[in-house]
Amino acid sequence: MALKINVKKSGFADVKNLVKHITEKNRVIKATPAKEVSAVFPINENAKRLHPDYQKMAISKVIDHAGAGAKTYVFKADKAAYFRAGQYLSVALTIDGSVLTRPYSISSSPDLTKDGEYAITVRRTPNGFASDWILDNWKAGDEVTVSEPLGNFFYEELRDCDDVIALAGGSGITPFLSMAYAIRDKAEDFNLTILFGSRTEDSILFKDELDAIAKECDKVKVVHALSEEERDGFEHGFINADIISK
Ligand SMILES: Cc1cc2nc3c(=O)[nH]c(=O)nc-3n(C[C@H](O)[C@H](O)[C@H](O)COP(=O)(O)OP(=O)(O)OC[C@H]3O[C@@H](n4cnc5c(N)ncnc54)[C@H](O)[C@@H]3O)c2cc1C
Repeated sequence: MALKINVKKSGFADVKNLVKHITEKNRVIKATPAKEVSAVFPINENAKRLHPDYQKMAISKVIDHAGAGAKTYVFKADKAAYFRAGQYLSVALTIDGSVLTRPYSISSSPDLTKDGEYAITVRRTPNGFASDWILDNWKAGDEVTVSEPLGNFFYEELRDCDDVIALAGGSGITPFLSMAYAIRDKAEDFNLTILFGSRTEDSILFKDELDAIAKECDKVKVVHALSEEERDGFEHGFINADIISK
């Protein structure tokens, strides 16, 4: 089938219209101030809130876990980006002129971000550069710079089973404590059994908090194993296949 194309000759009116259009365009460009056009789109604002480049926060509280050689630092700001329990913050530090970062899992409930709050728990690493410095220098009122919440170590309903067994030792409890809080606060919904290895009863991090959550919430169970002590109500030794299969 032959194409029917209607070709018209461009006439004087077309040229006149074109000139009018260019003149108008130049008038609008000239009348517009030479500054960035700012438009606020709610979706961009939301993305910035969820994924800030960095977050400046104040240390509002320091909790000493003397028996475990660790301290919990509570950070507070007007806003804190929401996180999935299990994620970490990358903490920016300048120590004797060296600029560095260290990741620390968030140990608090995701619910507390509504009040602009996170907590991290730092344990002293023998000869550790950053942990030593943090534990000896950070105090309430100091300002810290942290990243947005990072990492994929969180419960994902589509991927993970309803029943999760967590194996933790020492400060490795922090992401699971946050998950336990999240289950208690109904931000997450799965059954969590934490097998938590510590050296002695006195050195167990967050024992009271974990026991209180387990008492309050039947989806969270905590089994303590002590490697350097035999006590009633505790497993003895390192976490092994026998303890896991129980
Ligand atoms: C995702 C994630 C989450 C984490 N969450 C937590 C948390 O909640 N709480 C927590 O306390 N920690 C956590 N950590 C660990 C934390 O980030 C730091 O690694 C820890 O605090 C030690 O840092 P540091 O600078 O004190 O030690 P570093 O100075 O980095 O030293 C680490 C170890 O390496 C040894 N070492 C250093 N240099 C050398 C060398 N040249 N040769 C041989 N050995 C050497 C040191 O003696 C030390 O034992 C987490 C780590 C990751 C990856």
